[in-house]
Amino acid sequence: MVMQLKRNDFINFLRGIEEKWRKYWDRNRVYYAEPKPGKEKFFITIPYPYVSAPLHVGHGRTYTIGDIIARYKRMRGYNVFFPMAFHITGTPIEAVSWRIMHKDPDTLKLYRWYISFYVENPKKIEKILKTFSDPWSIVNFFSKHCIKDFKSIGLSIDWRHRFTTGDPEYNAFVTWQFRKLYEKGFIKKGKYPLLFCTSHKNAVGEDDILGGDEVKAQVIEFNLIKFKLVDEDIYLVAATLRPETLFGVTNVWVNPEADYVLVKVDGEKWIISEKAAFKLSYQDRKIEIVEKFKGEKLIGRKVYSPLDNRELLVLPAPFVDPNNASGIVYSVPAHAPYDWAALVDLKRNPEEAEKYGISASEIEAIQPISIIEIAGYSEYPAKDACEKHEVESQTDYEKLDRATEEIYKAEFYNGILKDNCGEFAGYRISDVKDKVIEEFRSRGFLDVMYEVTALKKPVICRCGGEVIAAILPDQWFIDYSNERWKQLARECLANMAIIPEFHRRLFEYTIEWLRERPCARKRGIGTKLPFDPEWIIESLSDSTIYMAFYTVIHQIKRHRIKADQLTESFWDYVLLGKGDREKVSKETGIPPKTLDKLRLHFEYWYPVDLRHTAPPHITNHLTFFIFHHAAIFDEDKWPRAISINAIVSGREGRKMSKSYGNIIPLADVSRKYSTDLYRLYISSDADIKTEMDWREARVAATAKNLQRFWETAIKIIELPNGKGRVNRIIDKWLTSKLNTKIKNATEHIENFEIRSAIFK
Ligand SMILES: [Zn+2]
Repeated sequence: MVMQLKRNDFINFLRGIEEKWRKYWDRNRVYYAEPKPGKEKFFITIPYPYVSAPLHVGHGRTYTIGDIIARYKRMRGYNVFFPMAFHITGTPIEAVSWRIMHKDPDTLKLYRWYISFYVENPKKIEKILKTFSDPWSIVNFFSKHCIKDFKSIGLSIDWRHRFTTGDPEYNAFVTWQFRKLYEKGFIKKGKYPLLFCTSHKNAVGEDDILGGDEVKAQVIEFNLIKFKLVDEDIYLVAATLRPETLFGVTNVWVNPEADYVLVKVDGEKWIISEKAAFKLSYQDRKIEIVEKFKGEKLIGRKVYSPLDNRELLVLPAPFVDPNNASGIVYSVPAHAPYDWAALVDLKRNPEEAEKYGISASEIEAIQPISIIEIAGYSEYPAKDACEKHEVESQTDYEKLDRATEEIYKAEFYNGILKDNCGEFAGYRISDVKDKVIEEFRSRGFLDVMYEVTALKKPVICRCGGEVIAAILPDQWFIDYSNERWKQLARECLANMAIIPEFHRRLFEYTIEWLRERPCARKRGIGTKLPFDPEWIIESLSDSTIYMAFYTVIHQIKRHRIKADQLTESFWDYVLLGKGDREKVSKETGIPPKTLDKLRLHFEYWYPVDLRHTAPPHITNHLTFFIFHHAAIFDEDKWPRAISINAIVSGREGRKMSKSYGNIIPLADVSRKYSTDLYRLYISSDADIKTEMDWREARVAATAKNLQRFWETAIKIIELPNGKGRVNRIIDKWLTSKLNTKIKNATEHIENFEIRSAIFK
């Protein structure tokens, strides 16, 4: 008789099975991986988690899919190595500690909640919370529970190889890497634009910013176009991201209410917003303020268009933001929705100009100049976009931002410059933009200013200070613009499998686009820069080739090798096979046989066969992973494949975020859903190309399917003659069906089509 279980009983039944096998796996060390020369290996890694907070079911998608691949490879007979460690580099953990020590109520509340995922007793929670004023207590608490969480969702990790990025052995490894990069000329010191806090006068990273990485603050480069005032040796300096539109300029906009200044910038007289002068003073410029005034004073004056000396009017426009770049913009109404809207506003209300002595007929005479041909749009794409987005005035910011983004993208990729664009006529903008900038620069009217962009402005430091873009001297950076290095990275990528393949384009693009990137900061947890120990290597720069460290750390600990024995020649020998064994042994005090063993471990496991993670890592971590392997290792140690699954974007249609309090911690998975149900749901609800939204109704549907499958299996087993070998036609049919399923599922998993492997 088949048991008819209620859903909850079924879940409990599953949990019982899971518990039994988890214990069995632990006791029998089934995921311990040792080199077995002659046996084919499979080395899979998934980025180590940052342990300043608990992980949630969204993170679990990537780890589960990676684990499915690891288990699949094991079943196919590979010797699978699947290690894991903990990332703690940088300032976030120290920042949490600091805030807990200073009893910041929001932080206390948040961490009380986090701890409650693991600890029930309120007194105990408070006790643990108190210890968090020491950053290492945070690391220890969350890494300990992360291991439990990962075990609870069934990850088949060999935990003996774990470490944190703050461990002295790891520091020794990163020190070695940076010496190598430095010797190869890939690390440089120089001026570099950075996010900078004007209050604590220091470079800041994402984690120093209020709102964290959700603000997405970054430094961008504006082009400044200098418009000379008619009859005066003073430039009105307008900022733009689209210098090619200068061919279509009709006038210049300033905000009549805003504060402007006449300043000497490196000896030249400029007019810019007061805020812009303040920012430029942090950008390696000599700034001397001559005079302050309101924008209204500029309105009605005339400037020359730098390309053809046409006289252009300076007109009032409230949309102009003195806090953005130079605080002055030039107008291209044919192609910029804001300019179109502002011109329409002014033509509709000519009295706004008459106030400043400009006649209505002068305004009426201003006509948009169309300079870009683009399929699907009229000669004035800005007009089309304003109509489409129902823009009513220049202060319809949200609609105008959307219209602007649409036109910007369309024109950049598909727009062709028209005959009135001089030598650039007939070219696609994306192909000539850099040349336009070079040309304008060489003609002396283009300059550069750095500005912060973000989803939310102003960008504020955790200390309360405003964050701006500053150029700091003596910054250490990794020089990804080095052509020799780029070529190695291209070769490395070309030899790798990228799954799904469509992501390859973004890798290729990123390799081309990456420039110098700052790699060290003055604060935080991490490894000191070996050649300038005031600096600490930042968190993306110290996490590029750490997969190599996994292969040896367990042996380093087993043989009780101390961090100070892990010298440059040690790593050269173990990871690169360079140097004399006896000499290295003498220098490090490590017996030659032990050195051989370490070398064997690395040689056996490397290269990485698969790096599995999510799309947000492509343009940073994963591309650095490629660059650094290509820089340090020989070709036979370059990684073989990267696979990527889309993220879990939300829960029941809403973004999953600690600020909404709607995350489901991994700690809840096993007790709430059972491991198998979770794994089945998270790996099959969408294919790996598709973002997932966590839906309880679909979890329940998955549970129903799973239960039905189990009941069917039991039914078959309990049939008379259900067990044992039977050879009727119907049995052969069933066996054949099963084999077809297995064959198809195998093909799907080989292609990372987990969803299809389950359903087809
Ligand atoms: Zn600050």
